[in-house]
Amino acid sequence: MTWYLSFIDPGNSGGSVTIPESPPVVISPIVYECPRCVACFESLEARRDHFFAAHPFRKPAILLRGRALGNAGTVVNEPTQGADWLLASCESVCLNGEDIEPAHLFSQLTELRQGFHVLELTNQDAKERFELSFCISELEELRHLENVFRMLFTDNDLNVDDIRRFAEACSSLATAKNYLEGVCQYLYGVLAKDQRGDTQLRHTQYKERFNQALGALRYVNRPMAGTIRAIINFSCNSFAQSAGVQHAPELASAAGRFAAWAGKSSTGVLPMECKALTRLPIDHATDQLLGWMTLPAERLTEELDGLRRACNSSLWTAEDRTKASVLWLQHARARRPSDEVRRMARSLLNDPIFASYAEQVLENTTQ
Ligand SMILES: [Zn+2]
Repeated sequence: MTWYLSFIDPGNSGGSVTIPESPPVVISPIVYECPRCVACFESLEARRDHFFAAHPFRKPAILLRGRALGNAGTVVNEPTQGADWLLASCESVCLNGEDIEPAHLFSQLTELRQGFHVLELTNQDAKERFELSFCISELEELRHLENVFRMLFTDNDLNVDDIRRFAEACSSLATAKNYLEGVCQYLYGVLAKDQRGDTQLRHTQYKERFNQALGALRYVNRPMAGTIRAIINFSCNSFAQSAGVQHAPELASAAGRFAAWAGKSSTGVLPMECKALTRLPIDHATDQLLGWMTLPAERLTEELDGLRRACNSSLWTAEDRTKASVLWLQHARARRPSDEVRRMARSLLNDPIFASYAEQVLENTTQ
């Protein structure tokens, strides 16, 4: 196509130039086709409106027991059945690099017990990658671990050698590795917290070990694992989680009372008659606190000096000293001189959990 342009010729000192008449330009209408169907549109806007209305964009998804899985971080820790799984908006499936029929996916997933697996789901809009980590324990192995535990740690002073023996005796239990790791880290944490049983760990390392235990036991669905989690949470003054533990009634009751004093709900407290399933080794401060909390009020009054010493003990953690202070206040506020009570309450004013409890005590205690 030739374009005729009008221009001023600078060399022509302003003289006029004849502009030839332009030939008619015929522009054929532009058509925008939908990439998905036969529809055509005159503008990009019209095509876009059509596309999103007629062909809604959907990512393929997979659901386990009604919950859509995220792309990463899915842990499957209990056996699944075909009916537990659901595919949505999915046209083709690739499991661990191999294409499989979507109809066969569920039966393959139900057979997976251990390990890391990658699932890729594709439809015409998108391709989604899901990382699934399977750690389904064999019940027999979990029970075996608990039997070894009872043999080694019932009515026995906890020490590093016994924890090693326990780890060795359970090392062949391939599907109980997280359980073993969590129990061992908990026991090492107890020794560090108490500085006993030939531990090489420093006192301050107990928290790190307790956190590792919580991480490893996160998906272990056994009463003993639940009780260990509850003891650790109680130790760290997270009472809401401990109050619900089913197999450690003394602990649940103590946690429920602390939660109530902190102004949190204390649902899930079980009656004290319920017997604990397993007697676990626990650290000295937790044992002492639970002992005090099971005493009748008049007996605890005789223990106020012991409680007071615990509040100031450098061997106790800040969290345990806080619990001792609250327990002391609960029983001393009506029995001890108000300046002593007020001093103890003031020491809790900066506590993240019991500050408002301390304020209440101050309000209700006349100078
Ligand atoms: Zn279309």
